[in-house]
Parts: sequence; structure tokens; C-alpha cells
Amino acid sequence: MSDRFDAIVIGMGPGGEVAATRLIDGGMKVAVIERELIGGECGYWACIPSKTLIRPAEARWEARRPPE
Ligand SMILES: Cc1cc2nc3c(=O)[nH]c(=O)nc-3n(C[C@H](O)[C@H](O)[C@H](O)COP(=O)(O)OP(=O)(O)OC[C@H]3O[C@@H](n4cnc5c(N)ncnc54)[C@H](O)[C@@H]3O)c2cc1C
Repeated sequence: MSDRFDAIVIGMGPGGEVAATRLIDGGMKVAVIERELIGGECGYWACIPSKTLIRPAEARWEARRPPE
């Protein structure tokens, strides 16, 4: 690999973060490479934003629905 690192993790989404953390916890020197945003898609435009956008519309629809 190199004199400086034991492992290189490419991509710092949730998967890369877990991989890097486990390698570090195991005593390895780890380099990480990310081409866009640390955290991957989940925090920026997938899991969290989608729930923030979708849930209020669902709650509004449920509140307007007549009781069965
Ligand atoms: C709309 C939407 C809603 C979602 N909601 C949920 C949810 O509620 N719960 C849930 O568990 N999951 C949800 N997901 C899925 C979740 O976002 C993914 O499962 C998760 O982000 C995958 O993580 P990952 O690390 O594998 O990939 P990613 O998050 O895609 O991260 C990969 C990273 O690698 C980088 N990368 C890629 N290629 C290279 C390269 N050659 N060099 C350097 N960096 C590179 C990218 O820039 C990116 O940052 C949702 C997805 C979407 C699209």
C-alpha cells in the first residue's frame, strides 16, 4: 500500500464512514478519498432531505382526510 497508510477508503458515504471507522478502531492508518461531499448522498439529498420534504405533505393529506 504505502509507508504512510494501511488502507485507503474511496467514498465517504455511510458505507465508507463505517469502513474507515472500523479500520481506524482496528489500529490501521487510513486515508479517505471523497470526490464530492463527506457523508455521501444520505445527509444531503437522499434519506434526510427526502423525509423532510415528503413527511409534511403526507401529514397534511392525512389531516384533511375525512374520518372513515
Ligand atoms: C431519495 C432517497 C431516500 C433514501 N432514504 C433512505 C432512508 O430513509 N434510510 C436509509 O437507510 N437509506 C435511504 N436511502 C439510501 C441511502 O442514501 C444509501 O443507502 C446510502 O447513502 C448508501 O451509502 P453508500 O456509502 O453506499 O453510498 P453513497 O452515500 O452514495 O456514498 C458514496 C460516496 O462515494 C463517493 N464516490 C463515488 N465514487 C468515487 C470516486 N471514484 N472517488 C471518490 N469518491 C467517490 C461519492 O461522492 C459519495 O460521497 C435513500 C436514498 C435515496 C436516493
